Amino acid sequence: MKRTLIKHVLVSDRIGEEVKIAGWVRTRRDSKGGFSFLEINDGSSFSGLQVVVPGELDNYQSDVLRVTIGSAVAVVGELVESPGAGQAVEVHATSVFVYGYADPDEYPLQKKRIGFEKLREIAHLRPRTNTFGAVARVRNALAYATHKFYQERDFLYLHTPMITASDAEGAGEMFQVTTLDMGALPRADGEIDYTQDFFGKPTFLTVSGQLEAETYALALDRVYTFGPTFRAENSNTRRHLAEFWMIEPEMAFADLDDNSDLAEAYIRFLFQYILDNCVEDLAFFNKWVDEGLLERLESIAGSDFERISYTEAVQALQKADVGFEYPVDWGTDLQSEHERYLTEVAYGKPLIVTDYPADIKAFYMRHNDDGKTVAAMDVLVPGVGEIVGGSQREERHDVLLESIRAKGLPEEHYWWYLDLRRFGTAPHAGFGLGFGRVVQFATGMHNIRDAIPFPRTPNSAEF
Ligand code: ATP
Ligand code: MN
Repeated sequence: MKRTLIKHVLVSDRIGEEVKIAGWVRTRRDSKGGFSFLEINDGSSFSGLQVVVPGELDNYQSDVLRVTIGSAVAVVGELVESPGAGQAVEVHATSVFVYGYADPDEYPLQKKRIGFEKLREIAHLRPRTNTFGAVARVRNALAYATHKFYQERDFLYLHTPMITASDAEGAGEMFQVTTLDMGALPRADGEIDYTQDFFGKPTFLTVSGQLEAETYALALDRVYTFGPTFRAENSNTRRHLAEFWMIEPEMAFADLDDNSDLAEAYIRFLFQYILDNCVEDLAFFNKWVDEGLLERLESIAGSDFERISYTEAVQALQKADVGFEYPVDWGTDLQSEHERYLTEVAYGKPLIVTDYPADIKAFYMRHNDDGKTVAAMDVLVPGVGEIVGGSQREERHDVLLESIRAKGLPEEHYWWYLDLRRFGTAPHAGFGLGFGRVVQFATGMHNIRDAIPFPRTPNSAEF
């Protein structure tokens, strides 16, 4: 018999018919009358399915009574309307097959709630909890919504390389990729001889696909990447991972305003999509993880973002009657505490901050006429802070070259990037959205380590 996913059984009109389901046992209760209730969850939805197992079943004594939390089973039975509260339908089993028992003395996920930090140590089992099943489903929905949003707007999905020779951000926080023998590095004139390395030169895991995306935007007009990026920054915060997924749209013939419009439309689309499609999971997060979640998601999906310049942001912060840890002066980067004050307190809604000082931003951002600022934009949201960083790109060859030199970057690495400005250059703009930050925001999970299946952070890569 063909198996049906529990989420389909729960909404089916197959009352009175035979169904087959399979999944993992969440609870078992035995009735005095000599039968058992199993709650089975297969991850297809937040809710599981209640199964009533009669004591007359052949293997009731031998198998069913040994079934414990975490055991994997398949059940065939009749779908009936449930008399009990809490579920509309249940299955009256005619057969129960046990694939695998889980020893209750050793299986860690018993009824008792385990803290998120502890669950990170059993990241291979945590998807079987309510919370991490829900995070996985919401993350999936956000990924689907991302493709839907860009595809419907004629953006082309582009696969940019993960191994690269250039440091897109110029920040130098990259993981090196090498096949050289660490115990016996080849040397020439005292230096490591990279001509013997796999690519004949030093290479790294990419921090961003942007530079490559620009090459395709200047040929195909609209592209987006959606892939893993890597940063060897030793930042042990709740918003940083060493490996995280990023979405990077890039548009030709577009300026900073077009870029802000796209970012705003995309973020609002994402949240509206999960409000429409992840009702049960979001209700769970709203109840158990973050009480204001639904209200916040609805308010972001439904409201226009405020747009201010960096200079205005600095003024607002200097006026603020709050003791910040880091002082704010025109020219310094905004810290997380500043970003959060702006979006949570000063404006109370998502903010797009534009036109930052050139000195604190990447070399590729377009220089404004004032000679001091660049056409950058960051999107800040309550609870998380920065969720998007982007800019109009410098399309003028000489200005770009000057900027590369001023930042002390190795000019020879960027020859192909400069070429784009020699051959048919055009205004263009794009941004990077940290997918994990969006999942964090969308679920209310406090730590980004709980918004990705297997977090990579300093000193942690067990799974
Ligand atoms: P932050 O100041 O928060 O470190 P950033 O300025 O380094 O961010 P960008 O280089 O602009 O970030 O990257 C684009 C987006 O990627 C950010 O807006 C953020 O959402 C996300 N992001 C950046 N670094 C990380 C990280 N280590 N882990 C998870 N997401 C990140
Ligand atoms: Mn950073």
